[in-house]
Amino acid sequence: MKRYSVFAIAREAARYHSGWERAWRSPDPKPAYDVVIVGAGGHGLATAYYLVKNHGIRNVAVLEKGWLGGGNTGRNTTIIRSNYLQDESAAIFEKARSLYETLSQDLNYNIMFSPRGVLMLAQTEHELRAWKRTAHANRLANISSEMVSPRRVKEIVPIINIDGPRYPILGGLWQARGGTARHDAVAWGYARAASAMGVDIIQQCEVTGVDRDGGKVAGVQTSRGNIACSKLCIVVAGNSGVLADMAGFRLPVESVALQALVSEPIKPCMNCVVMANTVHGYMSQSDKGEMVIGGGADGFNNYTQRGSFQHIEETVRALIETFPMISRLKMLRQWGGIVDMTGDRSPIISKTPVDGVFINCGWGTGGFKAIPGSGWATAEMLADGAPRALASSFSLDRFAEGRMIDESVAAAVAH
Ligand SMILES: Cc1cc2nc3c(=O)[nH]c(=O)nc-3n(C[C@H](O)[C@H](O)[C@H](O)COP(=O)(O)OP(=O)(O)OC[C@H]3O[C@@H](n4cnc5c(N)ncnc54)[C@H](O)[C@@H]3O)c2cc1C
Repeated sequence: MKRYSVFAIAREAARYHSGWERAWRSPDPKPAYDVVIVGAGGHGLATAYYLVKNHGIRNVAVLEKGWLGGGNTGRNTTIIRSNYLQDESAAIFEKARSLYETLSQDLNYNIMFSPRGVLMLAQTEHELRAWKRTAHANRLANISSEMVSPRRVKEIVPIINIDGPRYPILGGLWQARGGTARHDAVAWGYARAASAMGVDIIQQCEVTGVDRDGGKVAGVQTSRGNIACSKLCIVVAGNSGVLADMAGFRLPVESVALQALVSEPIKPCMNCVVMANTVHGYMSQSDKGEMVIGGGADGFNNYTQRGSFQHIEETVRALIETFPMISRLKMLRQWGGIVDMTGDRSPIISKTPVDGVFINCGWGTGGFKAIPGSGWATAEMLADGAPRALASSFSLDRFAEGRMIDESVAAAVAH
């Protein structure tokens, strides 16, 4: 793989950009691999990348039924932060956030990481107490985040109305090194780097069945033929229940559509991410100038990757008291993705009842920010046969043993 650099751009400019290579290979599937990963979203691709980079396991395939990054990874609102309440969550999200800081250099691909700061508003007394508790927990976990006053909120976000009649701003939880990254670029960067190290990324290859030999995995049936493997990792977000069913076990996960929308582009007016969890809305401004807006998940289980008018109405109505200026914006586009929700709003990175089958899912509304840390931890699990410290608390056993990692406050609508 040729490196991207300023010299490469100059060289290609001189020869009319005729020498760029394809970013990743498109191989036909081989009959067998050591590890098959189902799902070429951010988590599957990062897992493949760290399998090779950290553990030297190269005979790996990533199978994708559509196009890589076409699931939730290419549909999210790209908020990155690590100020979660519980130690286990804070550890994996902070690992991910810190990997994001240097991911462009690591992958030799500009993922446009923008640590512009994430502000989580406190708009009720209850929320104020919850964020204070989180700020204390973060300090103990050595994660940088702080409580700020309403006046400081107004300084950080001048367009905000802090004196709303229903939900005035009582304070905020501020993580200055949180921010955003370009979602497609994260998938493309991992795909390019993994492919260059020998991973076969096979798009338009739907997994339709899982073959078992007794209690152990033997391979997968796909729309492009059968593929044998000794380890299978299911990383398919909202489709996790479907794949688990193929492998012969059940998951404590519900699939729900989560929607987002963007406005017409306007001049720069907000240089951080703001989340208003009480009213179910959050907003940032893209590099193109669009206001990127998201809200709550659909209130019923479904597999529809689409937007709905009701959602625009609800989310914009929720945000208008705090951001009166959006009442004059035209909304341009909306879309949805299928998110995989667990009862405690924490992920699952785990072995499963089928020997050789592993699962990474349950990231729900907030897994984009976790991609590097999750890939790192999942690769460790695949290499060792069991999760190491970063992921050991996120096993499936916790639902049987009642060891929940409750992040319902930190994760609810917010990302
Ligand atoms: C509207 C919206 C906003 C969000 N905002 C944020 C945010 O601001 N911050 C944040 O941290 N998170 C956010 N999220 C959540 C985040 O997008 C997800 O948690 C994360 O992208 C999940 O990544 P993944 O790799 O697990 O899944 P995906 O990216 O969905 O990848 C799974 C892949 O598996 C493939 N697949 C499924 N079934 C099969 C099969 N049978 N065979 C082969 N392939 C299959 C799919 O096609 C898909 O490409 C948001 C999500 C949505 C929908």
